[in-house]
Amino acid sequence: MLDADARDRYLRHILLKEVGAQGQQKLLAARLLVVGAGGLGSPVIQYLAAAGVGVLGIVDDDRVALSNLQRQTIYRDEDVGASKVERAAAFVRALNPQVRTVAHGEKLNADNAGDIVAAYDLVIEGVDSFEARYAINAACIARQKPLISAAIGRFEGQLALFKPSAGAALPCYRCLVPEAPPRDAEINCAEEGVLGPLAGVIGSAAALEAIKEILGLGESLAGRLFIFDGLSMSARTVRLPRDPDCPDCGRIVRQTGRSGGEILSP
Ligand SMILES: [Zn+2]
Repeated sequence: MLDADARDRYLRHILLKEVGAQGQQKLLAARLLVVGAGGLGSPVIQYLAAAGVGVLGIVDDDRVALSNLQRQTIYRDEDVGASKVERAAAFVRALNPQVRTVAHGEKLNADNAGDIVAAYDLVIEGVDSFEARYAINAACIARQKPLISAAIGRFEGQLALFKPSAGAALPCYRCLVPEAPPRDAEINCAEEGVLGPLAGVIGSAAALEAIKEILGLGESLAGRLFIFDGLSMSARTVRLPRDPDCPDCGRIVRQTGRSGGEILSP
């Protein structure tokens, strides 16, 4: 049951008949992992903390740099040089003491991703390396965790939800990006620049999709890619097919025999 404080804090959720006190209790019981406490992670952390998720895990091995403050809105000038996960956890505690934070001050890679991901219901990543994205994707497939993946560059942002175990037609991240581009062609905001508020738009959309997924609300983004263009202020979603030869989700689905085995067999 929600106590008086929680009923007051989450009143605008509870007033939504699609959410209500029951939905809020689901959020309070949810365990979410945010990988990357940067420009995208900031609004994700901010809105999920405010929404009252039960546990918010935060993964980042970086320290706050002055050049982060243009878009990483959970940090303050005085945080420059401090550990991102520690400052992010302090931000969450100050905003909503009901949320339990778990700080993972390390980089996610193929060795540790599975164990970290296992403790959560849903993963949201906004990282800037393909290597990390593939490691998170593989870990989420193996543990059957939905993965929300967000990316921004210059004036455009993208958002997707991957859960290939939920349907034979649903893709994973590697179905969308089969191979990492060569290192020197890898485009990220460190090299190309990005308009700060774009991180807010796409990160907030990622938090919204996470809450929808936890509550089973509306039409899931699974199997679609949301593309937002800030310069023309326009957005579109395109269908994302599963790649039947995908080395990540094809293999796992065949192994577990969960779904779609018939269409994936040679
Ligand atoms: Zn795949």
